Amino acid sequence: MNGSAIRLLEVRPWRMPIFSIDYFFAACRKTGPGKLSGKLILSTTIPLTANPTENVSRKVSAGRHFRTSNGKVVILFLSLVILSGCKRRQLTTPTPQMDIEAQFWVKVLLLDKVEACTLQIASSFSITDDPNLQTLLPTARFDQIDAPISIRLINGEITIGGRPFMNDEVIIFPDEPYIFKLNGDAYRGKLKLIINPDGGTFDAINLVPPDAYLAGVVGAEMPSYWEPEALKAQAIAARTYCFYIKKRFGGNHTWDMKKTAAHQVYRGVSAEYTQIWDAVNQTKGQVLVCKQTDGTEDIFPTYYSSTCGGHTENSKNVFGDSFEPLTGVPCPYCRNVARPKFFFWPMIQFDNTYVINRLLRRYPNLKQLGKITNFSPAARSNYTEFSRLTKVELSGSSGKSDFLRAEDFRLAIDPTGRKLRSTICQIVKWGEKWAFLSGRGWGHGVGMCQCGAQGMARQGKNAKQILVYYYPDSRIISVY
Ligand SMILES: [Zn+2]
Repeated sequence: MNGSAIRLLEVRPWRMPIFSIDYFFAACRKTGPGKLSGKLILSTTIPLTANPTENVSRKVSAGRHFRTSNGKVVILFLSLVILSGCKRRQLTTPTPQMDIEAQFWVKVLLLDKVEACTLQIASSFSITDDPNLQTLLPTARFDQIDAPISIRLINGEITIGGRPFMNDEVIIFPDEPYIFKLNGDAYRGKLKLIINPDGGTFDAINLVPPDAYLAGVVGAEMPSYWEPEALKAQAIAARTYCFYIKKRFGGNHTWDMKKTAAHQVYRGVSAEYTQIWDAVNQTKGQVLVCKQTDGTEDIFPTYYSSTCGGHTENSKNVFGDSFEPLTGVPCPYCRNVARPKFFFWPMIQFDNTYVINRLLRRYPNLKQLGKITNFSPAARSNYTEFSRLTKVELSGSSGKSDFLRAEDFRLAIDPTGRKLRSTICQIVKWGEKWAFLSGRGWGHGVGMCQCGAQGMARQGKNAKQILVYYYPDSRIISVY
């Protein structure tokens, strides 16, 4: 086998893990090739050259070198796989808005401070490290490779498939359907790589048109089988939230949004379904606006969360910002939609040491309290059936005390928010543990209640009615 061209070939025989070529031949001898099924994977880093035909010929020449006891069959099998692999793949849904104005594009941080990643692109693509990235003049252009390409920093330079690029910023832009895979996950638009000031790591940022971004968000934030009007409400809320964060904070970063619940969950192409695209397309360009303190009308942070528990919360108590539509409304709708175990969540306990360590890790300033000895509720929002903890007082051995917003306290202890689901709960010291009892709801509770939106849609309410209910004194306008 020509080791210099392709060092390792792997196959995935039926119900078998990844095997090397030796295992493949062994499996052929043992079971016969007719019983093998699976996909041939070129797991090596294929040299990236500007001449794609060279890569294809290398794949074929690698096949010619295989000689085993049943070599003819193997070569036939490999040839079939290679030829079928050369066939142009069926294109997925085209990516819309690739020509939309620059102000609407969303920059999503996909990878933060990494040293390496893997890129795969089924279409032809270009790479530029031109300092004037706006022009997108390609530094290099490539035909279809569709095999994993290694990206890493070598001698401080972004190196893609062994080829170094001199600039600290590189943009990779695939041709139609404008899709690339990063570490196995598919995204639309372009990929920007930026070397961090530390010189040893880089960030990977997805530059994506707004509706393609939203398709990857709405499908991750709500089940695709939910009511179409709930999905549409989600699409408008997510679009508004994105543009607000982009406008408010985007100028300070090389990216606008993280792909996690810290902003909005974004899963790229894997979150897309027909119903999700319908919701995005049918609300094209629509955002929510409200009156601002200076009397003008503008977008606002349309927060939303899973299950409010019966009443949405005032944003001032959770995020500290005040907008008329975010003061909180009763929500009789989520109770019949959320699973009972999520609406009323069971008691959970954390060791005292664990809780304190988590708090100190997130808020090192708390060390000034000395040894943290107690937490007590400092403020609550009271509703008919329950109250939501909004502020926690922490007392220490130094005699000092400090306060945290209850939502910050919750996420410091459980950053995933999957155990300590909300601050609608009682906190009780239980020996060396802290117990969180009488839990209710999931999420911060501000703005639209997602389960509530589904409940309203089931009752025949449309997206506009849902949004005006959860964000009173707001209205929908179109921005593109
Ligand atoms: Zn609710």
